Amino acid sequence: MKHVRRGRPDQHFLIDSRVIERIIDYADIHKTDTILEIGAGFGNLTQKLASKAFKVIAIEFDPRLVEALHNLGLPNVMIIHGDALKVDFPEFDKVVSNLPYSISSEVTFKLFKHPFKLGILMYQYEFAQRMIATPGTKDYSRLSVGVQYFADVEVLEIVPRTAFRPRPEVRSAIVKIVPRPPSLDVVDKDFFFDFILAVFTQRRKQMKNAIVNAAHMLNVKDVKKAVNLLPKELMYKRPEQLSPEELANLSNLIYEARYD
Ligand code: SAM
Repeated sequence: MKHVRRGRPDQHFLIDSRVIERIIDYADIHKTDTILEIGAGFGNLTQKLASKAFKVIAIEFDPRLVEALHNLGLPNVMIIHGDALKVDFPEFDKVVSNLPYSISSEVTFKLFKHPFKLGILMYQYEFAQRMIATPGTKDYSRLSVGVQYFADVEVLEIVPRTAFRPRPEVRSAIVKIVPRPPSLDVVDKDFFFDFILAVFTQRRKQMKNAIVNAAHMLNVKDVKKAVNLLPKELMYKRPEQLSPEELANLSNLIYEARYD
């Protein structure tokens, strides 16, 4: 699938009405809900959302699809023509979308900058597996730790390629996202996110070496000294073996020692 910034938007339209109905059920929409939809396409999901919600904010990049959305004449749908990564999101209660997969990561972390109650989002299956992965598994990654920092995440169902037209090359999954206050006690969130980026790009290295290599990026003055202050038993493990709590604890210790 290609991304708009490379010339063409990802366009795989959901044509299986049973899957659309289940998405609507999972979202448990009330007449008071404002729903954000990212990549509304020609409005197959949008129409169903609009019939249940107070309001739908539909963001779409492709001008032909924007015109098609306007032609539906839905009074409670506000159409925003633009790139979901660039436009400001108005306030919303829930986000329900069959996402453009090439912006999955960026758009998910953009969503977490806003308060919302529930997300029911279609992702590429492999991406969804990484979102929910636990320590020690092959899918456990920076994405797992980052997403689980902000929310509880669950795969609700796997959706076959046949549910879309044109058919994508990969399977999809519907993911439920419930934002909650962070479960990790992190002193500095930005430092923590830089730290998990730095160590997971070296996921097969021992933590000790991964941290030493990351010293410049993390702006740690005397990294050998900082590493000596860290729990020894964790230094010989690999980043992919550490729980989010252990990573948060290490990040906090390095943050405190970075100018020593
Ligand atoms: N919601 C429709 C459906 O389920 O059939 C379309 C889903 S399709 C996977 C993704 C949609 O997102 C396409 O209509 C595409 O034009 C649009 N899109 C792609 N990149 C986008 C971006 N950066 N911002 C907003 N819309 C985008």
